[in-house]
Amino acid sequence: MSTSKEETTNLNSIDSSDFYRDLFMNSKQNAMILMDTDGYVLQINKAFEDHFGYTQNDLEGKHTRIFFTPEDQNLKKPEMEIASVKEQGAADDNNYLVHKDGSLVWVTGESILVTTDNGSFISKVVHNIHTQKVMERFLIETNELVESVLKTIKDALVVVDIDLRILKANKSFYQTFEIPEETIEGILLYDLNYAFWNEKSMQSKLETMIEENEFFQTNQFQWKKPDGSVRIFNVTAKNMDYSADKSKRILIVISDITVERELEQQKEDLIGFVTHELRNPLANMALCAELMQDSIKDNKIEETDEYLNKTRTNIKRLNTVVSELHDATRAGSGQLQINKQLIQFETLVDDAIETVRHLHPSHTILKTGNAPVEVYADRHRLLQVLNNYLTNAIKYCPTADKIVINLSITEEGLVTSVRDYGTGIPSSKIPHIFNRYYRIENSRATDGLGLGLYLSKEIINAHNGKVWVESEENVGSVFYFSLPLK
Ligand code: ADP
Repeated sequence: MSTSKEETTNLNSIDSSDFYRDLFMNSKQNAMILMDTDGYVLQINKAFEDHFGYTQNDLEGKHTRIFFTPEDQNLKKPEMEIASVKEQGAADDNNYLVHKDGSLVWVTGESILVTTDNGSFISKVVHNIHTQKVMERFLIETNELVESVLKTIKDALVVVDIDLRILKANKSFYQTFEIPEETIEGILLYDLNYAFWNEKSMQSKLETMIEENEFFQTNQFQWKKPDGSVRIFNVTAKNMDYSADKSKRILIVISDITVERELEQQKEDLIGFVTHELRNPLANMALCAELMQDSIKDNKIEETDEYLNKTRTNIKRLNTVVSELHDATRAGSGQLQINKQLIQFETLVDDAIETVRHLHPSHTILKTGNAPVEVYADRHRLLQVLNNYLTNAIKYCPTADKIVINLSITEEGLVTSVRDYGTGIPSSKIPHIFNRYYRIENSRATDGLGLGLYLSKEIINAHNGKVWVESEENVGSVFYFSLPLK
């Protein structure tokens, strides 16, 4: 039976020294170093020169430490590697190799102890994996960047496949829909069981989009949350251009625009209020002017006086509106002007009561308690607060004519309260009562911009004090403010 050449040729039949020499000299990818068992370089191959810049001459008599960073040299890594090769016959490493130009090149290396008739050597094969490693780092960093961008983005994002199965969602998505994180990947969007996704118009938009490869955007999609509150969203969905496995993916962006809508609404309301607040006194003044003309002609002094008084009241009202708006704008940008000086607090309260009594003689204002102290405060601003508390007590109490103002010194400092026996405030409205432009629906018939309490709060805050209210519907309210003493 004849034997073919291939069958008889094996490693044993090759002269191993020629084999090793050819492998060493001709390899283009496997950079190799031959060193003695103490780690001194004996020879490098062409591939090593090409990858790491050193020539045979550069390494004459040099220890392989030269290929290690100073930190690794300090940690005695070269010596440890050689000891390990000698002990175990081989050693691996996955680290930097210092290029001749000083730069660091990522490599993997395998060192093997070779024993020949001429003694023992260490042969090290080094693979330059720098490009892969840089790429790997880049991918990790890009991934981390994408993850952190997704985390920081305020909008809720969700990526779904063609069956609307959730592939990925960001933190905001979990927060918006109040779902525990990482529990929904792999489930169908419609199975989220939120009215939001199961809305017919939303479903048909998503399905058309998948079929027709188009982009869609909803405007103001309302969602009533399980707790009854309503959020307004803008939803946009788009086929993603990128997909590693070419399968279709859709990115859905859900932007919560509730606050923006509320602000727009507030702006519209404000324009409405301001127009109303300006129109009334202006119309009154126009009427009074006409009537006054007649009464002057007829020489009716009393009537003329009455129209003049009415005009004065309207001018006062206009002034209040303008200065409240001005103050609210300044307070909103933290620029409310406060000029503090030492003032006798009770005198200030008496002045406030006197002014309100004069304007509303029909009401009785009782003062109880006392606070014979001086406070470091803005007199004009505190009068503004007292005036607001007292006039509200009159405005919102159509049937009662008694108001009690009380002064006391407590742990909170100097506490002033204004009690009325009027409409009271529903408990659900109390948390909002000091908000800018906030008015209770049933107060709309009464003049006002919803700025008085907001400004009172800003003024008292600027004095490091506090404002609060206690109220019971149809019984009455007590509005408080405190000022720190010293
Ligand atoms: P305005 O009186 O101009 O509306 P305020 O900021 O002073 O503005 O008051 C805000 C809202 O709080 C009022 O519109 C009213 O609904 C409610 N409010 C204020 N004071 C009282 C009060 N003493 N009793 C009942 N409701 C009040």
